[in-house]
Amino acid sequence: MSFEGKYNVKSPAVKRLMREAQELHEATEEYCAHPLDDNLFEWHFTVHGPPSTDFEGGVYHGRILLPPEYPMKPPNIILLTPNGRFEVNKKICLSISGHHPETWQPSWSIRTALLALIAFMPTPGNGTIGSLDYSTEERQKLAKKSLSWQCDSCGKIADLLSKDTAKTPITEEEQHMLDTIALKAEEASTNEPSFSSSIENVSESELRQRRMDTQPETHEQQEAEIIVNPQVETMSSSNDLFWSILIATLLFAIILLVLRRLFLV
Ligand SMILES: [Zn+2]
Repeated sequence: MSFEGKYNVKSPAVKRLMREAQELHEATEEYCAHPLDDNLFEWHFTVHGPPSTDFEGGVYHGRILLPPEYPMKPPNIILLTPNGRFEVNKKICLSISGHHPETWQPSWSIRTALLALIAFMPTPGNGTIGSLDYSTEERQKLAKKSLSWQCDSCGKIADLLSKDTAKTPITEEEQHMLDTIALKAEEASTNEPSFSSSIENVSESELRQRRMDTQPETHEQQEAEIIVNPQVETMSSSNDLFWSILIATLLFAIILLVLRRLFLV
């Protein structure tokens, strides 16, 4: 693939994507990804279903859409192979959970997105938008079927992964990222904002607040989040404790000053 003549190689997105294409050039047993021949901003990927899960033995193919602002803005993932966990042909966004769910780190990459997707497949869908809660049996059936699934431009996906190249081990930094990352499905066709009641670890009001803080444009999008990191609550409660102690200390100091004034005059 040659993009040199077609794109401005000085653009940070182009530079970065060309580097990532080089890095991901060789397929591993875990995943592979490559830009389309005529579009550096659309990639096709294939991932292996994670072992010891309903998806073991399955192979899943999809598209990665990169915004012109990449890596400042996150990529979108669209799964094409029926899998029983994510709806096909629907965008799944990557974001970080916690107080700033919209924060995508520019140091993350397409590899990051794929690792997050693999890590998320076995998590419960909980009825959130874009998630499917198929039974183990149905998912295993789909995993078997996926081996004969074909992509119009890439061919038979089971042949795309390498059997000889072991997966690149996850670094400590990547593990940390996987612990804090969240996947969010989005649906652009509905006008009603959705407040899912089935999200673990985050209260409804907190979720509403977060949506208001970060997504003024949600009228156009119906979105759901899967939050992996349960630190949100602990963080807010330790924050509360800090403020209570501070206020108590200030009150105590004021009372001391008043008493001193009363008795020393
Ligand atoms: Zn393809």
